[in-house]
Amino acid sequence: MATKRTPSFNSHNPATGEIAGTYPIMDAKQVNEVVNHARSAAIKWQQLGFSGRKKVLLAWSALIINRVDQIAALVSLETGKPVGDAKLEVSIAVGHIGWAARHAEEIMRTSYRAPGLLMANMSATVQRSPVGTVGVIGPWNYPIFTPVGSICYALAAGNTVVFKPSEYTPGVGMWLEETFSEVAPFADIFTTITGLGATGGALCTSGIDKLSFTGSTRTAKLVAAACATTMTPVVLECGGKDPVIVASDANLERAVDATMWSAMANAGQSCIGAERVYVDEKVADKFTELAVALAQNIHAGAPGDGNYGPATMPSQIKVIQSHIKSAIKDGGVFAYGGTNSVKAPFVQPVILLDVPEDSAAMREETFGPTIIINKVKNMQEAIELSNASSYGLGANVWSKRQGKRIAAQLACGMVAINSTFSFAAIASVPFGGVKDSGYGRVHGPEGLLEYTYARTVVRTRFNLPLHLLSFKRKVKEEALVVTLTRWLKGRFG
Ligand code: NAD
Repeated sequence: MATKRTPSFNSHNPATGEIAGTYPIMDAKQVNEVVNHARSAAIKWQQLGFSGRKKVLLAWSALIINRVDQIAALVSLETGKPVGDAKLEVSIAVGHIGWAARHAEEIMRTSYRAPGLLMANMSATVQRSPVGTVGVIGPWNYPIFTPVGSICYALAAGNTVVFKPSEYTPGVGMWLEETFSEVAPFADIFTTITGLGATGGALCTSGIDKLSFTGSTRTAKLVAAACATTMTPVVLECGGKDPVIVASDANLERAVDATMWSAMANAGQSCIGAERVYVDEKVADKFTELAVALAQNIHAGAPGDGNYGPATMPSQIKVIQSHIKSAIKDGGVFAYGGTNSVKAPFVQPVILLDVPEDSAAMREETFGPTIIINKVKNMQEAIELSNASSYGLGANVWSKRQGKRIAAQLACGMVAINSTFSFAAIASVPFGGVKDSGYGRVHGPEGLLEYTYARTVVRTRFNLPLHLLSFKRKVKEEALVVTLTRWLKGRFG
C-alpha cells in the first residue's frame, strides 16, 4: 500500500533558477499543533522574566553575528542579493534583537496614573501583559531584517512566536529557528512553519493572540479578513510608493547618491525604496544629469558580479515591464535605460522623466530598479503630490533648511531628512505606515507594545464617606457630584 507523501515545495536560486532547498507544505492541522505547543510554552517563557529572556535573546544575537558568513550566504542564495548587502541586513537585525532585549522591561513597566478628584481615594495603575502567542508572516525581500523586527520584540515582551517565512526564503526562516533553539532554555518558544499562502492563512485562524504581517497590500487585506473571523488583532506592514522631495537648497550630490541607492539596491525590492522623485525645477536638470552619470556605474548581476541581483520573484518582472511601458505610453521619457533593460531575471537601472501622476508607474508599487524624476514648481506642490498616493510608508526629504517643515506635512509613517533608509536601522523609533501601507508599528517602544495588552488595575487606598457606586447613595451625594462637576468644569484629573 502506498504511503501518503507530505506535500512539499522548492525554493530557488533566482539568479540561476536552480533548486536551493525543499520544504514541507504544512496544513492547518500541523499549524494548529505547532501553535498549541507554542501556547503551552508561553507561560514558562513569561515566568523566565525580563532578565532571563534578555540573556536568551542576547545569546541568540551573538550567535547570529558570529555566523554572519553562513546566514549571509543563505540569504544571498535564496534572494539573489549580494552577500555584502545580506551582511548589512543581518547586522541591523542583530541591533534590533539587542535593543528589544535591553529595553523590554522599562517599556513594559507598570505606569501610575492620576485617579482624579472624584476617585481620589483610589490608586490607578496600568500593567502591560504579553498577549501570549504571536504569529509572524514575513516577506522575502529582507528575509532576516523584516521578520526579526517583529519576532524579537514579541519574544522580548514575553510571547512565544510561530513564524511563517515567505515561500521564496524558507531556508532563512528555518535557520532562524535552528539558531534560536541552540540558545533556548526549552522547546517551542520560537518555531518556524513552512508552506505557501494557505499555510499563512492557517496561521491567521489558528488561535494565535496577535498576527504581525509583512508583505503586499493585496495579501494584507486577505490576512486582515481571515484574522477578523477569530477576532485576532493584526499589525500590517505593507507596500509603498515612497517619494523623494528635493528642494533647491539640497546637497544634490548626496541626494542623488542616496536616492539611486534607495531605488536600485536590492534590485529595487525595498518597501521603503525610492520610487518617485519630486525635484524643484530650479535644480531638476542638474539632479537628472548626476543620476544618469551615476547609473552608468550601476549594473545588475548574479551575487559577486553586480551592484544588485536579479528579481527574486520571477513574476515581478512582468510588473516592472508593464510600469515602464505605461510610463512611456502616458507621456514619460527615458533618461537612462529602456524597455530592453529588462532581461529576466535581471533588470538594469531605468530612469524615467516627466511621467504623469495618473500613470500606473506613478501610482502602483513597482518593486524594481527604476526611478521616476518629476519636476515641481515649489515644495508645496512636492508635498501635495507626495501625499496624493494611496500609500503612505516612508519618504525622503533633501533640503538644508526646510527639512523639518516639509517632513511635518507628509502623510506617511517615516521621513528621513538628508538621508535614506536610516529610520529602519534606529531600533528606538517605530516603523510602519498609513493608508494602503498598513497599520500598527514594529520597532521601538511602540513596536514592542503591539505584542502586549494594557491591564488597568485600580485599588481602594482609603474609604470616602460617599457612596457613589452603591445602592446606599443619597440624593444629596448626587447633588454634590453635580455641583463639583459644574465647579471644576469636568476637570477631575
Ligand atoms: P506577499 O504578500 O506575496 O507575501 C507575504 C507573505 O504572506 C508570504 O509569507 C506569503 O506566503 C504569505 N501569504 C500569501 N498569501 C497568504 C494568505 N492568503 N494568508 C496568509 N499569508 C499569506 O508579499 P511578498 O511578495 O513576500 O513581499 C513583498 C511585499 O512586501 C512588497 O509589497 C513590499 O513592499 C512589502 N514589504 C513591506 C515591508 C514593511 O515593513 N512595510 C517590509 C518588507 C516588504
